[in-house]
Amino acid sequence: MSGDRIAAMRRRLEAARDELVSAGDLEFEPLRDDADALERPDEDAAPLTEMNQVIASKRNRERSERLARIQAALRRLEADPDDFGLCEACEEEIAPRRLEVMPWARFCVACQAKQDPERGGARRSLTDYE
Ligand SMILES: [Zn+2]
Repeated sequence: MSGDRIAAMRRRLEAARDELVSAGDLEFEPLRDDADALERPDEDAAPLTEMNQVIASKRNRERSERLARIQAALRRLEADPDDFGLCEACEEEIAPRRLEVMPWARFCVACQAKQDPERGGARRSLTDYE
């Protein structure tokens, strides 16, 4: 990968990381409604709050997984810029369009699909088993 593209990729990864981190602060806000639920302990309030927490923690988990991928990609970019953008399985170049949307992608579309045939995503990654 050329120096220009590497620099562009780094900027994209850093922007995605910053966006994720700043979006995090916004998503924590709804949990502050707890105070309201304590003042008015009616039947409906508790389950709703619990549901919100489940949704929020699922979101947080997905976000922290993505953040980990972005940071891993930045480290790969730093350590081995020549190999960045190559599929880790078949070593073919990952399509530029795919890297534009997902600069942290480690596999080409075909290999990614083989990893997770049901959903075609990287959801069931190693981090799920920690
Ligand atoms: Zn591949």
